[in-house]
Amino acid sequence: MPDSSSDAARGAPHGPVLSVVVPMYNEEEALPIMAHRLRAVLDGMGERYEVVAVDDGSVDRTAELVHELRADWPELRMVRLQRNSGHQAALLAGLMRADGQYVVSIDADLQDPPEVIPEMLRRARNEALDVVYGVRADRSTDTAFKRGTAAAYYRLMRRLAGRHVPAQAGDFRLLSRAAVETLRALPERTPVLRIVVPWLGFASGEVSYLRGERAAGETKYPLSRMVRLAADSVTSFSAAPLRLPTWLGLGTMALSTVLVGYAVAGYLSGRTVAGWASLFAAVLFFGAVQLLCLGLLGEYVGRIYTALQGRPAYLVAEDSADRDPAPRRAP
Ligand code: UDP
Ligand code: MG
Repeated sequence: MPDSSSDAARGAPHGPVLSVVVPMYNEEEALPIMAHRLRAVLDGMGERYEVVAVDDGSVDRTAELVHELRADWPELRMVRLQRNSGHQAALLAGLMRADGQYVVSIDADLQDPPEVIPEMLRRARNEALDVVYGVRADRSTDTAFKRGTAAAYYRLMRRLAGRHVPAQAGDFRLLSRAAVETLRALPERTPVLRIVVPWLGFASGEVSYLRGERAAGETKYPLSRMVRLAADSVTSFSAAPLRLPTWLGLGTMALSTVLVGYAVAGYLSGRTVAGWASLFAAVLFFGAVQLLCLGLLGEYVGRIYTALQGRPAYLVAEDSADRDPAPRRAP
């Protein structure tokens, strides 16, 4: 995990029950409204909590505002990243440093309503869940473009990563201490949380909510970042795309047998230019061979990639021979 300092196990018994991680990048407009609403919810829960504001290298007054808020909100904590590192990285930084027994991550723009947090905690406790996803019941406040791309994204991810990836679940979710520790123990440096978390296989539930409109300011996710998240998601989860040339090569090979037959027939009938049939056959053949060789390279690169990623082949939930059975441990 990419946390260089203070990576001792957290979640001390006297620490907060709940940590709320809020990544923020240039959120000076949304921050005051957000802080007000979040605080009202958290103070009303009657639990020990902390709010981990992760300032992702904002160039506006976000950091200043957090410091001002801290003056009379002792539960507010500030983790300021050295420079803008992106939403996923900021989230991860907050998760790695949160001390609570439960950790909720939420956007700073109030698109994820803080009022859902008590319900998430209640479900986690009552049903002994380690993960509670916030699932968007309705995205009518998002643009048609955002909805379309999101639908395609979740379809693709479910296809690649399996059915356990909940559709329409973004990064508004609750994780138990056990889940956070397992995440922390993964050697992967740039996990895409919304795919890796379901992959961990913890008992999970869903809480649906209405995704609101951005309270203020504008989206920090332009198209280029969306494309990057999608590319990261696919390549971080599977080496399947590397297998594409193999399939293309096999397809070309099959097609070329048919086409070579056609060329030979043309040659035999004498209705073609001299040399055409042999050139045609050679181009097809070598095209297919090249694709297959690329596919072969892809297979090896894929294996290297998987090994490098170091994601364990399995995670042990329990071993009855263990003296001190922690509920769930990373191997
Ligand atoms: N964010 C961040 N770093 C970035 C971009 C965004 O920490 O480089 C934060 C942002 O402040 C917000 C959350 O990530 O709290 C989600 O971003 P945004 O609302 O812009 O995305 P959208 O809801 O449009 O997908
Ligand atoms: Mg948003």
